[in-house]
Amino acid sequence: MPLLAANWKMNPTNVDDALDLVRGVMSVARGHADRIEIAIFPPFPWLLPVSDLLVDSGVKLGAQDCFWEKSGAYTGEVSPEMLKGLCQWVIVGHSERRLYLNETDEMVAKKTAAGLGAELGVIMCVGELLDHYDEGRSDEIVSAQVRAGLALCSADDSARLVIAYEPVWAIGSGRNADPEHAYKTMRLIRRIVGEMIGAGAARKVRILYGGSVNGNNVQQYVELPLCDGVLVGGASLDADEFAQIVRVTSEVYGQR
Ligand code: PEP
Repeated sequence: MPLLAANWKMNPTNVDDALDLVRGVMSVARGHADRIEIAIFPPFPWLLPVSDLLVDSGVKLGAQDCFWEKSGAYTGEVSPEMLKGLCQWVIVGHSERRLYLNETDEMVAKKTAAGLGAELGVIMCVGELLDHYDEGRSDEIVSAQVRAGLALCSADDSARLVIAYEPVWAIGSGRNADPEHAYKTMRLIRRIVGEMIGAGAARKVRILYGGSVNGNNVQQYVELPLCDGVLVGGASLDADEFAQIVRVTSEVYGQR
């Protein structure tokens, strides 16, 4: 089933607005739950109230990050074990964390393995910087990130593993990637995942596109043969825009 993941980043800044947004998502999700999996990723403090609202809605809940240890002296961190029960999903390796918090491929690998080990679904993000793209190095950078990020995973984890291809220059910039570039990179990712965990297991891994997706451009990505959905940032904060993304995605996959 395709996945539509809504990364709210550090928004909204109060719980009432967060719950209003959830109500908007729930009302559009109702008619499409049999065709697409919808997951929302609010900031940590809103996870508990949002999870209460989502009961029996079919909409899944995820965290935007996790740490790799189960517990201990790691001030400010949250473990996958703590998220389990509250969330079904976690995002790791988002480019904003790689960029602003110096997260390395090694840390992403540990987080990916820890999230999967706690039986969460894990969305591992990869993507090249604008300089890499301009220099024609996208394949090299993305391959290295996928290989390093999956270093601690096994074929057993494949059904709960998602890789989001998010060119960094496309995130929050309004400059969405050319679908052909997205397709070629997602094909490369699928091949590398196959090399790492075996072709059979790799078929269960879902691959998403992310980067300035909105209601007007989502169709060109979800129509791509290898695309299993989209990771949406800014546009997921507007209930009407997100509803349009849900409707288009559901229609495209309904025709497959
Ligand atoms: C993201 O946060 O992962 C993202 C893709 O953001 P945006 O849709 O705003 O580019």
